[in-house]
Parts: sequence; structure tokens; C-alpha cells
Amino acid sequence: MEKMNVKSQVAPYPYQRLAGKVAIITGGASGIGATTVQLFHENGAKVVIADIQDNLGRDIVNKLGGKNVFYFHCDVRNEDEISKLVDTTVAKYGKLDVMFNNAGIIDRPFGSILDTTKPELDRLISVNLVGAFLGAKHAARVMVPQRHGCILFTSSACTAIGGLSTHAYAVTKHGIWGLVKNLAAELGKHGIRVNCVSPFGVVTAIGGTVLGEDELAVAEQALSEIGNLKGQILRADGVAKAALYLASDEANYVSGLNLLVDGGFSSVNPTMM
Ligand code: NAD
Repeated sequence: MEKMNVKSQVAPYPYQRLAGKVAIITGGASGIGATTVQLFHENGAKVVIADIQDNLGRDIVNKLGGKNVFYFHCDVRNEDEISKLVDTTVAKYGKLDVMFNNAGIIDRPFGSILDTTKPELDRLISVNLVGAFLGAKHAARVMVPQRHGCILFTSSACTAIGGLSTHAYAVTKHGIWGLVKNLAAELGKHGIRVNCVSPFGVVTAIGGTVLGEDELAVAEQALSEIGNLKGQILRADGVAKAALYLASDEANYVSGLNLLVDGGFSSVNPTMM
């Protein structure tokens, strides 16, 4: 399982980059989301962990000392739950500065369209795309009257190169990228920025198996060989740091961006790799 070891990999910053901000992170109980929860919290944000894995979410709250962080059970497919998540956050912390729509699932690594079933397609769309859409909608509901805010998503490097995922997964992640561009166009006049991070190849629990140390080493070795930053791999904190930048005031003129966090993998001529 992805370890929450951001501290060991991030040189200390001279100031807290999200001081005073309030952030919701969906899918915050595991992987990229959990690491982002820790990094945002270390950077002075009040953080709400939204997920369906209640025990994991509550463990993180305890690890972070229980201050300026809480867990909220929220299935992102359910609009009532998303609406309550946003309203509870605003009731407790007074505002919502950052909505990170990160919750997601995969089906399997690859596969023909001929093997894709309608229920499988519906399942992926309902979590990855409908869930992200509803999160953005209810964040905008409170951010528009606030006249500021940052809506973030986790898309995927499959938006930049074919053949990285199944077609159904690619559809959901391209849908997010389309939503980013449309929302950035609509919400900019209200002071709201909209962006996504698009990683490739982070070993997390998303594949359905929690890897042991040996299996993790094998997976990471394989990933270090297919990337073009040879010998390096992307860990969850690499994605969390990109999200931190986009959530911070350092990115106050950045909107409508698909920030690829793939070591250049999707932009390099494969014959040179
Ligand atoms: P992960 O499985 O560790 O984390 C995903 C989290 O989403 C889990 O905590 C899970 O409980 C939660 N979740 C799933 N369904 C949910 C629902 N219906 N409601 C609320 N929460 C739900 O995997 P991860 O790799 O950290 O994935 C995070 C995001 O990153 C996903 O959107 C994924 O598609 C995206 N992504 C991951 C990679 C990668 O290489 N790991 C690459 C590209 C994109």
C-alpha cells in the first residue's frame, strides 16, 4: 500500500502554502488523495477527507492529530451526500476554498472495446465522471457567492496518449478534461480557477491489490524502465505536490490546465525510449 511518507520526500518549504484555506479531498482515504490530505494539512489547510472507506479515513484523522481535519462518509455517486459534504464543510469551517475531486476507480489495465460490458462502463462513469461532476457542481454552488475558489480534479495521462488504459477509463478521464475547460470558461468571472492533474503509473491500491514490499519493488522497477525519466518513478507525493501548487495562490492565474505528472512519458517519441 502507498505509504504516507510525504515528509521524507519534500524539502521543507519556508511557509505554509495553504494557510487559512479550507479544502475537501474526495478519495482522501487512500493513495494520491491520502497523501494530498497530509500535504495540504501540513501546509496550513483545514482538510475534509471524503471517502467510502471509513476506517482508513478516520485513521488519517487520528494520525494528523484530529485538529483542522475531519472525515465525512461520502459516496461521490450520490448527489445528496456530495451536497451534505459541502454544506457540512461550510458550516464547520465557514467557507470552501479548494474542492479536489480525486475519487476514482479503474476496471483493469487494458482490454478491447469488445470485452467492455455496459455495466462496467456505467460503473466507471458513475464514480469517475458523474462523481467529479457533482463535486464540481456543489463546490461552485458555494464558491460563486464567495467570489473565489479552486476546483481541482484528478484526470490521467491517458488524456495525452492512447493505449494507457481501457477505453471506458479513458472516456471518464477525457470527460474530466472537457469539464475542466468548460468550467474554467464559465467560472473564471466569479474568481474560480479550475484545473486537473494527470498522473501516470503511481502504485496505489487502485488496482484492487495491496502490494507487499517485494511486489511493490517489482512494480516500481518496471515503471522506472518504461518512463523516460529513467530510474525515477512517480509516487503519490509527486501528484500531491502538483495539486498543492494548483491549490495555492502561487497558481492564482492558472486555470483551464491539464497538468501532466508523467515524467514526460506521453510527450516523447517511443522509439527514443
Ligand atoms: P486509490 O484506490 O488508492 O484511491 C482512490 C480512492 O477513491 C479510495 O480511497 C477509494 O475508496 C475512493 N473511492 C472510490 N470510489 C468512491 C466513491 N464512490 N465515493 C467516494 N470515494 C470513492 O487510488 P489512487 O491511485 O490514489 O487514485 C486516485 C485518483 O487518481 C483516481 O481518480 C484515479 O483514477 C487517478 N489516477 C491514478 C493513477 C495511478 O497511477 N494511480 C493514474 C492516473 C489517474
